[in-house]
Amino acid sequence: MPELPEVETVRRGLAQQVTGYTFATAHGLHPRVLKPASLAPLSAVVGARIKGINRRGKFLWFELDRDQVLVAHLGMSGQFLVARKDRSAPNHVRAHFQLTRGIKKRELVFSDQRTFGWLSLERLINGIPQSAQHIAVDPFDTLFDRGAVIAKMKSRKAAVILNQEIMSGVGNIYADESLWRAKIHPEIPACDLTVRKIASLVDAATTVMSEAIKVGGTSFDALYVNVNGTSGFFETSLAAYGQEHQPCPRCGREIRRIAFGNRSSHFCPKCQVN
Ligand SMILES: [Zn+2]
Repeated sequence: MPELPEVETVRRGLAQQVTGYTFATAHGLHPRVLKPASLAPLSAVVGARIKGINRRGKFLWFELDRDQVLVAHLGMSGQFLVARKDRSAPNHVRAHFQLTRGIKKRELVFSDQRTFGWLSLERLINGIPQSAQHIAVDPFDTLFDRGAVIAKMKSRKAAVILNQEIMSGVGNIYADESLWRAKIHPEIPACDLTVRKIASLVDAATTVMSEAIKVGGTSFDALYVNVNGTSGFFETSLAAYGQEHQPCPRCGREIRRIAFGNRSSHFCPKCQVN
């Protein structure tokens, strides 16, 4: 599933390739591609110019020169691809758009094999689309308040690195990596950690995700690609996630995988003891 660095990579690619273009056509090709709560059908974007691409957590939206925005969520396997002549058409296309800018033309497709991704037309409330209202800011947002996030985590009786309402964007991959870097056991409740330790976890999450963004994200499976159809390569830098039975890069002890709740975590039983 794409996490924040992968979605940010897609945002940057889209911003670079479609800003300034106008939607000439818009076609949904799968009954589930349009979110039921959408204010309008996909065709409502026809004639709208793309002013920029924004993001809150894993929600992307196209800023348009009108009072609605086109929101997109990649779900498990959603991809935006800007078509090129030297590339064959992608599989599982769920929506297709023709874009124009003067005499320039571009084709944009939204493909999604597992169909958990969606698009919708929404209004902004305080600058954020309706469907992303509950999502907290992430460390890359100018509104991110590191001190407030640390205080909120400290007050929780659960392991909180994945809580999207406190700090958004951290999913399984970057949670495992942040906990490994901060030397924290994945099951320890946040309230049992010192403020200093929580601060080191928040900072580790920020650093590990920045490093991943720099290299285009982690290619956790063949379905994640950027708008050019290529993959990121942060997976070569993973210390814990997916490394079960591999030696810990810090101490050499074998990385273990534990399951709890409905998820699992990879960690080093020697380094990550509190
Ligand atoms: Zn270790």
